[in-house]
Amino acid sequence: MQFHEALSQIPKPSEQRIALRVSAEAEKIIRQGHPWVFDQSIIEQSHRGVPGELAVIFDSKRKFLAIGLYDPTSPIRVRVLQKGKPATIDSNWFQEKIKTAIALRKPLNNKNTNGYRLVHGENDGLPGLVIDRYAQTLVIKLYTPAWVPHLQDICSALTSFEHLILRLSRSLNKQTKYLHGLTDGMTLTPQTTEHLILFKENGLTFECDPINGQKTGFFLDQRENRERVKKLSKNKSVLNLFSYTGGFSLYAADGGAKEIVSVDFSVPATQATLRNIEHNGHLSNVKSAKFETITKDAFEVLDEMKKHNSKFDIVILDPPMFAQNQSQIETALSAYRKLTQLGLNVLKPNGILVQASCSSRVDADSFFETVHKSAKEAGRPLQEIERTGHALDHPITFKEGAYLKCLFAIAP
Ligand code: SAH
Repeated sequence: MQFHEALSQIPKPSEQRIALRVSAEAEKIIRQGHPWVFDQSIIEQSHRGVPGELAVIFDSKRKFLAIGLYDPTSPIRVRVLQKGKPATIDSNWFQEKIKTAIALRKPLNNKNTNGYRLVHGENDGLPGLVIDRYAQTLVIKLYTPAWVPHLQDICSALTSFEHLILRLSRSLNKQTKYLHGLTDGMTLTPQTTEHLILFKENGLTFECDPINGQKTGFFLDQRENRERVKKLSKNKSVLNLFSYTGGFSLYAADGGAKEIVSVDFSVPATQATLRNIEHNGHLSNVKSAKFETITKDAFEVLDEMKKHNSKFDIVILDPPMFAQNQSQIETALSAYRKLTQLGLNVLKPNGILVQASCSSRVDADSFFETVHKSAKEAGRPLQEIERTGHALDHPITFKEGAYLKCLFAIAP
């Protein structure tokens, strides 16, 4: 079944509204703009709802507090769409939100860049919904069944793009009961076997596989950090660890790096890196750079490189999320600590360390402090060049929205 056919079979959103009251603490948090209402904080509820029904939350004086999407399958029971002022949540409302999100990204859309995040979930007022743009393709990723009844409205607001691809989060993919025939990877256009899309980021060409790739196919959140690496790379040797499809590697080459080693344990990621090098082979700096790709565990590679006394001018560490929940924060911090030390082992004196964290549970201060402490312990106290966070297309409107942090520093 095609996506548009499946869309037309989804039952319309329920006309009913669920009325809710929440604890005093939750009321306070909602007033402050937090978009999540947890199941435990609900103290009164009019009726059992279905995913995607609109829930109206009333305050202790029974006045309107917020309206949001109800999801009985998640501990995040309601995702707030609007607080303070009542609103009719319909296709116009969604259209306006998407228009606002598109307008915010306008400065990013130019002849050199046509890949960026168009809708960043909660942070664009559309909690649980991510839309990434790759040239004329939009990848719509749903994280809750609550979006299913409203998907038609979302797609209607995106008609200026040629192709729409639907992705479902891992947990949503299992909730077939609520999917009404939607499947992960459905496209609005005839499927190609490869699913590879070419798009531009700061003048470089990348391919993205939105169906089989990680996330929606590319890590768009690192665009500005890659640009920073490019500016630091002239005549340098660069080690890019957790390189995925070679984003940082290509920027380093474009910036004039003479040698770039990319390490990732994923075979498809390495293959895509090699193709991305080809896609940019017309650029003279990329053509003259020496690339090496290693498909192996990054920790093992770092150990081996230490043994061989390999050294680089720039070491980039951009690992996957280490902390999925509160209880894993300490383990995550010790993994960052270890990575800093392993990275410094292969960094030349006065080389540049670029270390990132995408674990939203690990706050920026703890991360930066851990990296600094670890470098000090290794006898190489860092001189900071810059601490960076989120770009324009990844706005932050609540605490958990701030997940990306990156340190650029010189190690003596
Ligand atoms: N820096 C990348 C994004 C990194 S995402 C970019 O700019 O696009 C994290 C990557 O780490 C993924 O590609 C994943 O395959 C890889 N990975 C996770 N654990 C790893 C490990 N132990 N060794 C090597 N690669 C790993």
